[in-house]
Amino acid sequence: MEAEKRQRKKMSMAKHKNYLRQIIKASGTAFLDVFQKLLEETNATKDEVFQYLQRVYHAIFFFGHINNPQVNPRDFFPANAWNNIQDTFQKPLAEYKTHLPSQTPYSILLEYITEFYDGKKESILEELEKRNKELLVNFYKDEKNQLQPKNFALSATVISHSCVSNPYSANAYGASIAYKGTVPRQLMIAISALLVWDKVISYEVRCKESGRGIQFPHGVCGYSYKFNTSNNKYKPTPPCTKCYTSYIIKFDPKFVKTNKQEDWPHGNCAETESLSNLLRHNENIRNAVHTYDDNNEIVDRATIIKRFADEHEDELQKEIRSLLEPRRFYINQNGLELFTPAAFA
Ligand SMILES: [Zn+2]
Repeated sequence: MEAEKRQRKKMSMAKHKNYLRQIIKASGTAFLDVFQKLLEETNATKDEVFQYLQRVYHAIFFFGHINNPQVNPRDFFPANAWNNIQDTFQKPLAEYKTHLPSQTPYSILLEYITEFYDGKKESILEELEKRNKELLVNFYKDEKNQLQPKNFALSATVISHSCVSNPYSANAYGASIAYKGTVPRQLMIAISALLVWDKVISYEVRCKESGRGIQFPHGVCGYSYKFNTSNNKYKPTPPCTKCYTSYIIKFDPKFVKTNKQEDWPHGNCAETESLSNLLRHNENIRNAVHTYDDNNEIVDRATIIKRFADEHEDELQKEIRSLLEPRRFYINQNGLELFTPAAFA
């Protein structure tokens, strides 16, 4: 009896694993279809196509590789396309087990659209709505014959725009962390904090509830939009408590206190990537941001960066290593490395 029970349990676990693998495969394939179509329809140059696809492929291969169950790169392509992919995209194929992605696939897509429309919000939102529709309204039937969104694992539902109003300038965008699943999400936040985001943002994210908030210069505004799958439109959305207390800027819509549970980790929200991009691209804002100590004295940028290095970098290195080690990832002895695309030949 016991043996029979164990056998049944083993079979149902295998079935569930297979189901999870199918979802990741379907998500990756759908995402790549949408991204390639976007590049074609916007007449991207050969160089742009090559640069962007390398980054998207690498991020998707990495995600498939560390996923449980694991999904291999070739599973994301039809059999007849594989030889060509192998010849053209050697770098992402060689490095998805050794190098880390600096952005989620969705964030790379947002970056492309932002550049294409030169930061113009109305056009960016419209284009994203069109692509989200293809990503999210693309369903498949699971083994219980229920409809599941194909891009379950890779699309972000919230994007955020930050800028300086009056004069209206310095547009920057960001997406929420799209990887579903606790470990990939945790990993992406840790990688971003250690290697990608502006360190002032990383410091605040690491301080969690005990952070005192980053004070931005007067005039910096944040607008976030949540995608509504029932009408395929973005709707302005107020910040969550974490963002409201972490980033001292003018939010529109304004923060509203609710009793809703906010169970996402610090650093998960679109505001984080957007404000980090704002700092990256604007030296004046970058040099003006600061926080406060417990006596309400100003702590300047240089001090925050030093504190981040002293108090958080080692811990983050360890966290990333311990998350990756059981997931077949090879870590270079000299340190963690980010993937950078090869030059266009
Ligand atoms: Zn938030």
